[in-house]
Amino acid sequence: MKKITIAIDGFSSTGKSTVAKQIAKHLGYVYVDSGAMYRAVTYYAMQQGIIDSNHFNVDGLVANLDDIKISFKFNNSLGFAEVYLNGTNIENDIRTLEVSNFVSKVAEISKVRQLLVKQQQKLGKDKGVVMDGRDIGTVVFPNAELKLFMTASAETRAERRFSELIERGEAVSYEAVLKNVQERDFIDSNREDSPLVIAEDAIEIDNSNMSLQEQFDKILQLVNITQESIE
Ligand code: C5P
Repeated sequence: MKKITIAIDGFSSTGKSTVAKQIAKHLGYVYVDSGAMYRAVTYYAMQQGIIDSNHFNVDGLVANLDDIKISFKFNNSLGFAEVYLNGTNIENDIRTLEVSNFVSKVAEISKVRQLLVKQQQKLGKDKGVVMDGRDIGTVVFPNAELKLFMTASAETRAERRFSELIERGEAVSYEAVLKNVQERDFIDSNREDSPLVIAEDAIEIDNSNMSLQEQFDKILQLVNITQESIE
């Protein structure tokens, strides 16, 4: 079977990464969480005092972009690659609501996007990759053989993210999570550079009422159809 590129885009907390990881594992493909890269830049900006709830020094961040080295290292016991910032594992640090509250503002900056898109294209250059994000099928891999666009109601997504954060031990309220999901949807869909839009040739999957197994089966079926069509 020829290796293909699978681009999975969609709104925040649609469960893209969960199903993308499973599909990648099943196919023996590389999984790349592009959102983790935007979160890593955001985490760096927070650590350096470049962004907080009162200010965002955009020029300061752009001037420091050369200092940000993002890498992924596969963790055998977890079964996926964790993200590192300048050699330090930050996989857990980037999943907080605080990072989520700033990340879309960082992801609006063209210089940040240019840097990360280049790295993402490099990570997927040999195909055999499942990458999830907001602009994978439109900007990063416009020629991807299979493009999916995941959706679900904002409430369903907020409930999922809320449970995840509680499980991680974060003291958050459902209302704060819902607000974050809605704000990120808005900024991500309305920014000037690479807004979140459905690629013309993407297949939309509303997973509001789908189990993980159903999503996995549906995507695998689409992968098989795609592979047969290009053999
Ligand atoms: O996927 P995740 O929710 O972790 O992404 C965090 C944020 O990173 C998104 O809300 C969006 O602002 C940004 N992002 C992006 N382009 C991508 C992936 C993520 O702008 N390809």
